[in-house]
Amino acid sequence: MNNNNERPRRNNRQGGRRRKVCSFCVTDHKNPEFKPAVIDYKNSDLLRKYVSDRGKISPRRITGTCAKHQRELTISIKRARHMALLPFSRD
Ligand SMILES: [Zn+2]
Repeated sequence: MNNNNERPRRNNRQGGRRRKVCSFCVTDHKNPEFKPAVIDYKNSDLLRKYVSDRGKISPRRITGTCAKHQRELTISIKRARHMALLPFSRD
């Protein structure tokens, strides 16, 4: 009897650590007119990028959003769901 249990996969991240910058904090120093996207529940196109196919909010680890903006994002996504602009998570 050889029961191969599924083990959690280990991420092979040696040395290849990329620092993700929150896309709402970024500023373009070459372009002073540049403004990062505004988190708003009406901006469903933007919010959709942070929601999976199943309607789940992507974790910070994946999107690289900072804690402050992730919180705003979560609130906006929930609001957008309430306004039927985004689907609810199906799970
Ligand atoms: Zn941020």
